[in-house]
Amino acid sequence: MSGGEIDLSAWWMPFTANRQFKAAPRMLERAEGMHYYTPDGRQVLDGAAGLWCVNAGHGRAEIADAVGSALRHLDYAPPFQMGHPLAFEAAEALKAILPDGLDRIFFVNSGSEAADTALKIARAYHVARGEPNRVWLVGRERGYHGVNFGGLSVGGIPNNRAAFGPLLREVDHIRHTLDLERNAFARGQPEHGAKLADDLLRVIAEHGAEKIAAVMVEPMAGSTGVLPPPIGYLERLRSICDEHGILLIFDEVITGFGRLGAPFAAQRFGVTPDVLNMAKGLTNGAIPMGAVAVRGEVHDALMNGPPGAIELLHGYTYSGHPAASAAMIATLGIYSREKLFDRARELEPYWQDAIHSLRQSPNVIDVRDIGLVGAVELAPLAGRPGARGYDVLCRAFASGLLVRVTADTIALSPPLIISEAQIDELVDKLRTAIADSSKELQ
Ligand code: PMP
Repeated sequence: MSGGEIDLSAWWMPFTANRQFKAAPRMLERAEGMHYYTPDGRQVLDGAAGLWCVNAGHGRAEIADAVGSALRHLDYAPPFQMGHPLAFEAAEALKAILPDGLDRIFFVNSGSEAADTALKIARAYHVARGEPNRVWLVGRERGYHGVNFGGLSVGGIPNNRAAFGPLLREVDHIRHTLDLERNAFARGQPEHGAKLADDLLRVIAEHGAEKIAAVMVEPMAGSTGVLPPPIGYLERLRSICDEHGILLIFDEVITGFGRLGAPFAAQRFGVTPDVLNMAKGLTNGAIPMGAVAVRGEVHDALMNGPPGAIELLHGYTYSGHPAASAAMIATLGIYSREKLFDRARELEPYWQDAIHSLRQSPNVIDVRDIGLVGAVELAPLAGRPGARGYDVLCRAFASGLLVRVTADTIALSPPLIISEAQIDELVDKLRTAIADSSKELQ
């Protein structure tokens, strides 16, 4: 299928080089289990869970059925001063798998909205506690928190910000944790780098702890190339935040829902944030949905205003939408019945060995992994950063494998239902794509 009879002129595609795409379109028409299918019937192994979303695999009828019956029953309910049972039920189901203490949940529709919501909650929390000067928001270099202005400001990808003029002012960043000199080819959490958390002390010294509202990080940075946290790093970040009254926000949009072999990275690493953002796997990717979970105390601080007043003037027309709530309840049911988070943990050693076998491939300068996530970093082509990564993406897709590429790093995150034989197939296809690309792209 080359795009043929489909008119490609109206849809302005996101995150896509639209001009290039029109010349060589890659279309996905259908999905089932571990596979996508192209319009001409080619099977494509999903090495990316769509985009870190489809943790239970594609085409789950339970989710489609739940959404259909929810919509037939209650198509929409307004969020102003009204509730509906499914949203409360969804929050209750989610609470059961969240880290202890995170027991209030705010619904949004995406990871970007979760990021901006979390940042607003952090500021409002300090205002409610009588510390209105705590306005600074701290992110981390190479952090990704979506594309809205808050997440974009706190995110650490200069390229993403370049076209959009001034962003939030009271924002600073701590250093990222990628260290190819000391940690290349580390398996699981890298050994070196816990001390990088102390970079927060530099930021505190510069602005004053009493002015800082929150630090937001991904426990494992995903979009900028898969950076598992160094051993001890998150613990150190947690204790610095505690010492200085700063809220710690984990953006678990990628790491949530079993990706790291536990419900959330917080449980995997034994570090509980004050605020936890999620999306993607929350509905297995089937319906746009995100959430922000907060420690009871954060919620309670905001409940102290005059009776009858709205405590947090924030929300979306579709917050807790019936279709999304139903999709979420059905998704969490599948994760639990099929024990998919445990399955990810059990598969991890096999996965780790398989992807680290790519160390021998040409131009590979690092292999990283944690849970059912992997990354293969290629040496950039002189003067053309990203060219190698994109070439491998195209070759992999032509051979029947979907991967996610960020610059010259190939990120892997298959649905948690993947079999060992499919892990082998994924790695073999990628090995061939990297080898062919190295031969032809000089
Ligand atoms: N935070 C993180 C950690 C993400 O990985 C993403 C998306 N990849 C987002 C936020 C933004 O999510 P969305 O695209 O749903 O707005």
